[in-house]
Amino acid sequence: MEVSKNHDFGTRAIHAGQRPDPTTGAIMTPIYQTSTYVQQSPGKIIGEYDYSRAANPTRAALEANLADLEGGRYGLCFASGVAATGVVLHLLSSGDKVLLGDDVYGGTNRLFHRVFAQLGIETVLVDMTDLDAVKSAMDERVKLVWLETPTNPTLKIADIEAISEITKANEVILAVDNTFATPYLQNPLALGADIVCHSTTKYIGGHSDSIGGALITNDPGLHERLKFIQLSEGAVPGIMECFLLLRSTKTLHVRMQRHCENAEKIAAHLDAHPKVDKVIYPGLESHPQHELAKKQMSGFGGMITIYIKGGLEESQLMLEKTRFFACAESLGGVESLIEHPAIMTHASVPADQRAKLGISDNLVRLSVGIEGVEDLIADLDQALG
Ligand SMILES: *Cc1c(COP(=O)(O)O)cnc(C)c1O
Repeated sequence: MEVSKNHDFGTRAIHAGQRPDPTTGAIMTPIYQTSTYVQQSPGKIIGEYDYSRAANPTRAALEANLADLEGGRYGLCFASGVAATGVVLHLLSSGDKVLLGDDVYGGTNRLFHRVFAQLGIETVLVDMTDLDAVKSAMDERVKLVWLETPTNPTLKIADIEAISEITKANEVILAVDNTFATPYLQNPLALGADIVCHSTTKYIGGHSDSIGGALITNDPGLHERLKFIQLSEGAVPGIMECFLLLRSTKTLHVRMQRHCENAEKIAAHLDAHPKVDKVIYPGLESHPQHELAKKQMSGFGGMITIYIKGGLEESQLMLEKTRFFACAESLGGVESLIEHPAIMTHASVPADQRAKLGISDNLVRLSVGIEGVEDLIADLDQALG
């Protein structure tokens, strides 16, 4: 069944890019676990494929599916989220400058500052919630703006549409890492972004069982350049990984609905909890960009950040005591996770930068899973003691 833009997200999640296997009618796209393809005569290929680094039918089905979900024409998949990020950076040349959100994912920050800096690409950190700061950081050398929204772990929301007006006026590429929101809640391309990046490891995969990344665009020229770098650098995903992700995208809408529902209830509960100082959740009216979140997103996501009363000792105790919330890095899986950014995911961020971003010792990040919400609330209550 061919799908179009007018079909519901759930219908597209299940059908976009998918067709019954032409040889057997198998409803699921088979795992084409092959590196190469037999040719009829030299250079005369039988189907569309000659070598699996260049393209593979299982990967092609996934790339088409993800592109559709983001409202894009072209999708490319990679071995990890950071591999996808690196491919975008390879669009730049020595002497170019990038404006980078000041609280992007730690691995993104490391890639820009420690790997691409050596190639002569300069990175300037900017608070993407401050449009004047974005405007005044622009100059001729800026070729790329890279942002995340909501950010990690303080869940700041950047106005994609407003920033895209600035990047368009300056002929700068705008790339948005949409990992936290997923295409179910937010479509950066429709808001003016040029490239959407995903760590499919998180919500898109959703089962904490694979590492992967994706890039989606509507621009044929940009797509050709990204595809050329994908082929040349070769950080493509394994075929089994692509199959797992195809299985995951079919339930993305259902999982996201429950992630959001559970997170909204938990955020409200913690907001009134005597042992909690402050809750950051885009769905709460107290969130500084709550109105923007309502406008830009169709739901508020499954991530909650809390400042508990006390310090390092109290937060450590809480993380030792939760039972359903497993103490682990990463996010976006069906199972709930809890982590301490200052010690775990953001340990590599210098202490002064952490302080500036509000990543203190009493800050705890929750990735709310899709378990029964009453059980999750009871778990947090007993852990907060
Ligand atoms: C995890 C993550 C990445 C990196 O993805 P990997 O799949 O771990 O390489 C990039 N951006 C965000 C927002 C992430 O959460």
